[in-house]
Amino acid sequence: MSVTDKVTVVTGGGRGIGAAVALRLARAGHRVGIGYARDRQAAEETAAAVRAEGVACVAVRADTSDESAVDELFATVRERLGPVTGLVNNAGITGLLGRFTETPVERIRRVVDVNVTGALLCARRAALEMSTRHGGTGGAVVNISSAAATLGAPGEYVHYAASKAAVDAMTVGLAKELAEEGVRVNCVQPGMIATGIHAAMGDPERPWKKASAVPMGRPGEPEEIAGAVAWLLSAEASYTTGAVLRVAGGL
Ligand code: NDP
Repeated sequence: MSVTDKVTVVTGGGRGIGAAVALRLARAGHRVGIGYARDRQAAEETAAAVRAEGVACVAVRADTSDESAVDELFATVRERLGPVTGLVNNAGITGLLGRFTETPVERIRRVVDVNVTGALLCARRAALEMSTRHGGTGGAVVNISSAAATLGAPGEYVHYAASKAAVDAMTVGLAKELAEEGVRVNCVQPGMIATGIHAAMGDPERPWKKASAVPMGRPGEPEEIAGAVAWLLSAEASYTTGAVLRVAGGL
């Protein structure tokens, strides 16, 4: 498959890590389907930046926790860009920082719904599109987990860490299930990355405040996650599946 045959869906691709991934993939020749939930303007701006790299791109509103929206996202991308060959399962939320016992149950449910159910629905739909068992030509999935999945995030967002541990488990299981069907499944665990997610947690300065806990002494940039994702989607990673790769400055 030449790079121009690659059509990759990036959920949450309008901003933050997802936007950096969309741009990085565009530079590697992928056509990109951007999924977004609320921020249409950011998604359209990122889509315009992707097109400026000379590849086709479409931005589609799709709450990944909604099965019919996920189906529509993949159907639109297939119709506008061609058969899907890749998925970056990036959409994710946290909620305000706090102790687990003080986290509202509704917040816990929503985090699980988006981070776990949403990632599972997207992976399932991508597998149905790409698996040779279902008439596809193969492909690759990269799930965006978190270093918190391993570290636990006590006092900050234990429910989020648990949701991302589920993403790690899904990566390993699905990689084995699809290994003989032409689909590789891997996972990146970002550490502290400078994006808008920290403002949504109630502390926009958090990546810099926490830098001293990072062995490399600084937060990461979204582009540093995008590089790892692009590699995992590339032919260079043709024998890599079921890997959980931490990109976290030594955390
Ligand atoms: P941002 O808050 O900057 O971006 C989150 C993205 O997810 C947005 O594009 C948003 O879409 C999308 N999104 C949120 N909810 C939904 C939903 N229900 N359906 C579809 N899309 C949705 O966060 P980051 O870029 O930092 O995070 C990206 C991923 O990386 C997440 O999975 C996060 O958990 C993970 N991560 C981030 C770390 C960090 O330090 N930044 C560390 C470890 C992991 P919209 O713009 O439309 O709202």
